[in-house]
Amino acid sequence: MPIDPTQPYDDDNIFAKVLRGELPANRVYEDEWALAFHDIAPQAPVHILVIPKGRYVSWDDFSASAPDAEIAGFARAVGHVARTAGLVEDGYRILYNIGSHGGQEIAHLHAHIFAGRPLGRMVG
Ligand code: 5GP
Repeated sequence: MPIDPTQPYDDDNIFAKVLRGELPANRVYEDEWALAFHDIAPQAPVHILVIPKGRYVSWDDFSASAPDAEIAGFARAVGHVARTAGLVEDGYRILYNIGSHGGQEIAHLHAHIFAGRPLGRMVG
């Protein structure tokens, strides 16, 4: 069920629970700004999700209202996760789904990192 990116942040979303340690996740990285873990239903050989620790519904409110330090910290964390997973040489894809047409289903901002095979040119 796609989410409405204009809704207020809901602390009961699944990734908020993962952040609070109330739901398990196969974690690969954590720092001051971000937590990364494997997607539960991978769409590529490597499918990692990176979420900010702040309360953001989507890329929309994050890019509009997050402090610069938080945006920089999160962007660096996404790059760090890809590098330490060894994805740079063969390449990878970062994807943010936003709202209904984007196909976003969880109302806490998350970057998808896909890798491990040629990913093609499709939009969706
Ligand atoms: P969206 O469609 O919102 O951009 O992506 C949500 C992603 O979260 C999907 O790829 C889905 O497989 C993943 N996902 C949904 N529930 C869970 C969960 O409980 N744990 C983990 N690790 N991933 C989840």
